Amino acid sequence: MTCATAAPRGIGMTSQRTRDRMIARLREQGIGDEPLLAAMAAVPRHLFIDPGLASRAYEDTALPIGFEQTISRPFAVARMIEAARAGRELGRVLEVGTGCGYQAAVLARIAKEVYSIERIQALAEKARANLRSLRIANLRLVHGDGYKGLSEAAPFDAIIVAAAAPLVPRALTDQLACRGRLVMPVGNEEQELRVIERSAAGGLKASRLDAVRFVPLRAGKG
Ligand code: SAH
Repeated sequence: MTCATAAPRGIGMTSQRTRDRMIARLREQGIGDEPLLAAMAAVPRHLFIDPGLASRAYEDTALPIGFEQTISRPFAVARMIEAARAGRELGRVLEVGTGCGYQAAVLARIAKEVYSIERIQALAEKARANLRSLRIANLRLVHGDGYKGLSEAAPFDAIIVAAAAPLVPRALTDQLACRGRLVMPVGNEEQELRVIERSAAGGLKASRLDAVRFVPLRAGKG
């Protein structure tokens, strides 16, 4: 007699195993922040991507999310959060550029309180819908212009900007807490990831990470 073997649970392209492979790849790419890797292993990235592309959710690539925007590649998400955290416990964090909400969901697992701003209303609503089933209590989504930051919730221990601008907006560095870190892509065609840290004495110190390619930061609400 032959028995039909039941397919093991979660063996598809959106399973925990696929997510674990993404984590292994991030480690090979040099990401070593364990709480961050645990957060990325837990957040179901495929829920943030349209069903037609969901099978590619764990590839190391940016994917379209509509409105000419993209979900950042996993390595970019990891690199920015690792640089913003720098091994510290994070209290309040601001993300500029919610997009589909993936990075906000990861941040919410490693920070006490997360605020995320998106300028395109339809994307802010899409992110809200994507995040609903995850029931994240410590994440606030805001429809607004992230160029201005979010003064009513400042200061922030970390600010992550998921879109590139020629210069780091002054409103954002003004909203950094003492020892707070801002991470954002800076440049036009050629961009580099920049880290700005507010020192205990109050000054700002900049450093550079990799060359990157992000969608542009645009002023005003969409
Ligand atoms: N954080 C997303 C990446 C989104 S792409 C992820 O998890 O993959 C960058 C987003 O920044 C886009 O949705 C774009 O609309 C948004 N954006 C651009 N300029 C902005 C601004 N001034 N304020 C807020 N969001 C902005």
